[in-house]
Amino acid sequence: MRCEICGKKIVEEPIKTKVDGSIMLTCKECSKFGKVQREAPKPKRPGAPRGGTLRRIQRPKEPAEEVVENVKDIVRQARERKGWSREELGEKIYEKASVVSRIESGKMVPDLKLARKIEKLMNIILVEKNEDVSADGLGHSKVRGATIGDIAQIKKN
Ligand SMILES: [Zn+2]
Repeated sequence: MRCEICGKKIVEEPIKTKVDGSIMLTCKECSKFGKVQREAPKPKRPGAPRGGTLRRIQRPKEPAEEVVENVKDIVRQARERKGWSREELGEKIYEKASVVSRIESGKMVPDLKLARKIEKLMNIILVEKNEDVSADGLGHSKVRGATIGDIAQIKKN
């Protein structure tokens, strides 16, 4: 191994020296002409954000609200409990009896506005928060790719 600057034989470890922008292997004497590189230069990481930041960005402000799956059964049972006909219920929610029929037969899912109207009227629950996007920070599991464990967790909630 010879010094790349003076050509002298290097007995010990050659010194990596940066001279005019290029790295040279030099003897101790010649390392004074440039900047000694102590280690292999590492790519700089300009303060990458560490965990947590991403999660917060991807979480929606509020969990989505959805009309419950068995809305047809709940509405029919609540109506029958009150002894109302479909026409009577329709009048109270300012909808036609045919709308009530379609809801109770599952042909139609009421939108959130109508569902809330029925909820209030009959004191039942028709709208629930979509726990898929849970408020405790598990929302990022979708991004990561949900595992079976995650799915079980979501359903439990
Ligand atoms: Zn030299």
